[in-house]
Amino acid sequence: LTERLQNAIGKLRRKGKISESDVKEVMREIRLALLEADVNFKVVKDFVKTVRSRAIGAEVLESLTPAQQIVKIVNEELVKVMGEEAAPLNKSAKIPTIIMMVGLQGAGKTTTASKLANKLKKEKNARPFMIAADVYRPAAIDQLKILGKDIDVPVFSLGVDVDPVEIVRQGLEEAKDKKNDYVIIDTAGRLQIDEKLMQELSSIKELAQPDEILLTVDAMTGQNAVEVAKGFNDQLDVTGVVLTKLDGDTRGGAALSIRAVTGKPIKFIGQGEKMTDLDVFYPDRMASRILGMGDMLTLIEKAQQEYDQKQAEELAEKMRENNFDFNDFLIQMEQVQNMGPMEDIIKMIPGMANNPALKNLKVDPKDIEHTKAIVYSMTPQERENPDLLNPSRRRRIAAGSGRPIQEVNRMIKQFKQMQDMMKKMSNGNFSGMEGLLGG
Ligand code: GDP
Ligand code: MG
Repeated sequence: LTERLQNAIGKLRRKGKISESDVKEVMREIRLALLEADVNFKVVKDFVKTVRSRAIGAEVLESLTPAQQIVKIVNEELVKVMGEEAAPLNKSAKIPTIIMMVGLQGAGKTTTASKLANKLKKEKNARPFMIAADVYRPAAIDQLKILGKDIDVPVFSLGVDVDPVEIVRQGLEEAKDKKNDYVIIDTAGRLQIDEKLMQELSSIKELAQPDEILLTVDAMTGQNAVEVAKGFNDQLDVTGVVLTKLDGDTRGGAALSIRAVTGKPIKFIGQGEKMTDLDVFYPDRMASRILGMGDMLTLIEKAQQEYDQKQAEELAEKMRENNFDFNDFLIQMEQVQNMGPMEDIIKMIPGMANNPALKNLKVDPKDIEHTKAIVYSMTPQERENPDLLNPSRRRRIAAGSGRPIQEVNRMIKQFKQMQDMMKKMSNGNFSGMEGLLGG
């Protein structure tokens, strides 16, 4: 019901157009959220500028407050900057499609190469083939071989004493002989970008002519990720990005920065060490993650669809006049029900999505039905005037609704608490409530 109240209150102070001061207030929060999410400073600055110019003077939608409307714009712009849609993996017209992994040491190239092979195998029935071209660390070749064995994908290697370009040349020949449809080349990384590494990667690129050069970036490196991405892209003109280690508590701001700085699409995200922990990148999901607000926008959109403005205004009016009764309560319950399963709605509230206490939350739609049954068993007079509800009336209602008397008592008690709260809100000032309800 909080959400309903929020909207009702939003209504009381709704304006037709977004003003400069609305924007200023909200943008301060947005800016902080972006910086906290490790979005590059310059990217934030440009982004805020875009949003501001779009927001000022924009119409405020019927069921939104100016703040919600700005958040909506921010979300839309975030999605736009990150590419709108999921970007598919490039595919060659004739086999094999060649994919080259590049990135700093420890970014997750070897792991991602194997995850991707596994994904192609499982989802596309493909026959991938991997080439171990990191000759600087003997352990790197073993690592790829072990992973390859796990997922049952062949790994080509010539040890550490052969030039990586030569390894790739021979590996490609073998893959063509065996008619594998995807070849994934795992390359070496360094702790920092250097000339020698870039030379080597450029030579491999020239020889292999990959359909896809996937830059693997560790999302936890935050600000540094932008420099790295720019460096690799300038030298190799990568075709896509994989953002790894998003399973931690990183907010994923690197996604926004990298996309903005390189213009290259993020194609996958790594969310764990297991072979199945590779997911397609969806700009809209990342946008909510960056803003750290669950699916707030979905929630707003739902409210927008389901919200009956006229009823809301009447309710707001009643709250002011302190005569919110059981008839209004019924209307509210029906509106909430129209929005979908209660647990889904609760999870969309900012800060609730990842709340462990809510993980297994199940709100039984029957509970709402029971509550409604109780209200339906009241006479019109009782609904308008809950004070009439003495013990004998309550027993009659319990019998009529088929609910236990304890449940009837509990429901009436909760209703009175709600009435009380509304009284306090309408008597006191609304400014305290605004912060509380996120309006
Ligand atoms: P490379 O040097 O670029 O080849 O990086 P590796 O593939 O060897 O990965 C370095 C470390 O990061 C390994 O311990 C991986 O298990 C780990 N790693 C890679 N991707 C992810 C990810 O998405 N999430 C987590 N938690 N760990 C990852
Ligand atoms: Mg490696």
